[in-house]
Amino acid sequence: MDFDPQVVEFRAEVADWLAEHVPDTPLPSIDTAEGFALHRSWEAELAAARLAAVSWPAEYGGRGASLVQWLVFEEEYWAAGAPGRVNQNGLFVLAPTLFGHGTAEQLARILPPMARAEQVWAQAWSEPGAGSDLAGIRSRAARTEGGWLLSGQKTWSSRATFADRAFGLFRSDPAAGRHHGLTYLMFDLRADGVTVRPILQLDGEPGFAEIFLDEVFVPDADVIGEPGDGWRIAMSTTEHERGLSLRSPGRFMAVAARLIDLWQRIGDPTDTALANRVVDAWIGARAYQLHGFRMASRVDADASVAARSSLAKVFWSELDLAIHETALDLLGPRAELRGECGPDGRWLDGYLFAMAGPIYAGTNEIQRNILAERVLGLPR
Ligand SMILES: Cc1cc2nc3c(=O)[nH]c(=O)nc-3n(C[C@H](O)[C@H](O)[C@H](O)COP(=O)(O)OP(=O)(O)OC[C@H]3O[C@@H](n4cnc5c(N)ncnc54)[C@H](O)[C@@H]3O)c2cc1C
Repeated sequence: MDFDPQVVEFRAEVADWLAEHVPDTPLPSIDTAEGFALHRSWEAELAAARLAAVSWPAEYGGRGASLVQWLVFEEEYWAAGAPGRVNQNGLFVLAPTLFGHGTAEQLARILPPMARAEQVWAQAWSEPGAGSDLAGIRSRAARTEGGWLLSGQKTWSSRATFADRAFGLFRSDPAAGRHHGLTYLMFDLRADGVTVRPILQLDGEPGFAEIFLDEVFVPDADVIGEPGDGWRIAMSTTEHERGLSLRSPGRFMAVAARLIDLWQRIGDPTDTALANRVVDAWIGARAYQLHGFRMASRVDADASVAARSSLAKVFWSELDLAIHETALDLLGPRAELRGECGPDGRWLDGYLFAMAGPIYAGTNEIQRNILAERVLGLPR
């Protein structure tokens, strides 16, 4: 693969900057108050170097980078061991939705503070009765003067415990059919009528929250697209959430490289079964990398890319799990160490999170249904 000189130059600039700025010791978990604040400061540092959202236009804090440049940025970012992205739901899920469906006023108002992580965003889609069956949403948006009143309950909202704002789908016309009468709205997590209740996850930290809404006022300016058109817009959001945008190949290249390093340090060369799993992990990460570059060069030409984000989602989530399972098997009894015990302990933390990959952003069973019906054309 040959890259343009511009891309090569950009890669070198990013690598140099990261080598100078990435903290020497990993930041505390993003799901703690201290860790969240430190990740927020890191994002501000990235933004000051215009590296928080390289693919955005310069007017919003980006560099107008091409998709290939963005993939290259991601490779360097994860290879450098840089911190997780505390505003990932904003940068990689909401922002692309706004580029597709937001107004010029919304882009100008929302994107710059998002890039600087002055406003960290949470996604408020799931409800106790609406996960895979997202069209089962019952939280309501009732019309009022100048805007909407939101009521209901959202759940599993990542980072909502500490985040500033959220975006979600609300039923604005209860009489309309399940996929109709939904409106896509943004709201302040500290507004009157909002109660955020943290949920402790498997590692004991409040990585999620439930959000209770009691007649929370949202102005018309914070509706994305037309009222009632939320389902169509939400489906465009899922393309970004499931595909390259949220989970770029660079992430998995970096974790596969760490697995190879672990194998070289402690692997038993006579254990060919485990050696093959390490090789498979590398091949999987490399295949996803090449798939990413192929998608990036076809994205404008190939309209069916959208449905294929489901393919990417199944692939990266199962790859991540396989890499982590292989690492834990390699570590043997040491697999039980946690992050605070040094680099080997990061594998168990990573594994706990990788286990969630086949669930979040739409379960893999649902992605396989989508692939069967929309890509392969199988009967429902
Ligand atoms: C780490 C993590 C982070 C998350 N972050 C967020 C967030 O920030 N914001 C947010 O809104 N939500 C978030 N979620 C919630 C996530 O989107 C839901 O958990 C997911 O959509 C599944 O919904 P559910 O939990 O209600 O399970 P259910 O929909 O009840 O599914 C239960 C099981 O049944 C299977 N199933 C359901 N329907 C079908 C079908 N038609 N065909 C075949 N199998 C089916 C599912 O695959 C699953 O195995 C997060 C979840 C996790 C694990």
